[in-house]
Amino acid sequence: MEHGKATILYIEDDPASRRLVQRLLSNKGYEVFVADDGLKGISLAREKRPQLILMDINLPGMGGREITTRLRSLPHFTEIPIVALTANASPGSRELALAAGCTGFLTKPIDVSVFPDQVEDYLNGRVEPLSAAEKNIHLQRHAQNLVEQLEDRINELETANRRLRELDRLKSDFIIMVSHELRTPLTLISGYAHLMDEQLKQNNETFTAEMISGVAEGLNQGVDRMRGVVNEIIKVARIASGTLDLAIGPVRLSDIVQDLQEEFQEVIDKRRLNLHIGDLSKLPIIEGDGIQLKAAVDNVLGNAVKYTPDGGSIFIVGRTMGDTVDLIIQDTGIGIPGGEQTKIFDQFYALGSIEHHSTSKSAFQGGGLGLGLAIAKGIVEAHNGRIWVESDKRDPNSSPGSTFHILLPIDQASQRINL
Ligand code: ADP
Repeated sequence: MEHGKATILYIEDDPASRRLVQRLLSNKGYEVFVADDGLKGISLAREKRPQLILMDINLPGMGGREITTRLRSLPHFTEIPIVALTANASPGSRELALAAGCTGFLTKPIDVSVFPDQVEDYLNGRVEPLSAAEKNIHLQRHAQNLVEQLEDRINELETANRRLRELDRLKSDFIIMVSHELRTPLTLISGYAHLMDEQLKQNNETFTAEMISGVAEGLNQGVDRMRGVVNEIIKVARIASGTLDLAIGPVRLSDIVQDLQEEFQEVIDKRRLNLHIGDLSKLPIIEGDGIQLKAAVDNVLGNAVKYTPDGGSIFIVGRTMGDTVDLIIQDTGIGIPGGEQTKIFDQFYALGSIEHHSTSKSAFQGGGLGLGLAIAKGIVEAHNGRIWVESDKRDPNSSPGSTFHILLPIDQASQRINL
């Protein structure tokens, strides 16, 4: 029988095997279609209606035996040859493939000198024998495998579903918090605008330059706060979409910390916190984006301030470790439970309920938008660095404290080569 024009479908995830088999069989005049996974294979089979299917057994997702069983349930595929191709020649794998519905079984690597003839044989009706008793035993194993896989998939889906629901909840909370964050300055702005309007209407003589400047200051404060919130959201969106541009230059971490110390001084005094800064002047100058790195350290230090009770301490030290610098920000705050220590770096993740949310940037435990650490992580990772936290537990009574590490490569160029 001449099969030169027969159509063959090869379902295989390994590109090298696909190319080899396609070339071998095309040279013999067959029309060969390939699919790189099981589901694509099934739809291609339905579309092309091949005369023979070569089936890789170890496919990711739905495996070759499962696809074969599925195909056998479709009208066009009850009889056509389906030949298993597998690198796994362990005892029982042939019988299992045949019980699942394969008519042939070939092991990989294929023997190129005989492979086209073997395919021709199967096209001509060759069927590998399997006794009824053997078929029974292996059908049972096949069914058990199917159920096990089904169970695994259900577990995976349930986990993914839980994660999606959690993300959905985090996003809803986030929307509520953003509205809240924006409403506070908005109220401030509309209050001052209203005040100015009233004064103008009354043509009041007390409406002095001093007063105008007071109103303008109030308006500016409101606008600044709104800008801060909007910038934070934009930054997190840039990080999430990978479009955060870094302006790389020489960065002195000691300068960043000193700037931040000045900016935080007022809050630190107000909350009677003790900020101890080690000698950072000996740290090497690193390559990075000074503005972004300052924003990252700002968020971590801001949290140390927020989550440390009045009178507590914050320590900032740095050390060189090989070709990296480790900036350590340690506090004597409420701590972070073990299970949350990676999640707090996720977007929108604010540990604790949103009822405790406060717009204050410095109040003890005044929560923010849950973006601060996600931004810090995004910036640090954009520098090929790492950020993590160590803490024993969360306990506002005993204040176990938290230690954040920001590990940054000294040299960005060598990092990129190493990647
Ligand atoms: P937020 O804007 O809510 O502070 P972050 O992303 O900055 O969001 O932090 C996420 C969560 O991590 C916070 O809600 C807080 O519970 C926890 N956290 C961050 N830093 C500290 C710290 N130094 N001590 C205790 N908890 C912290």
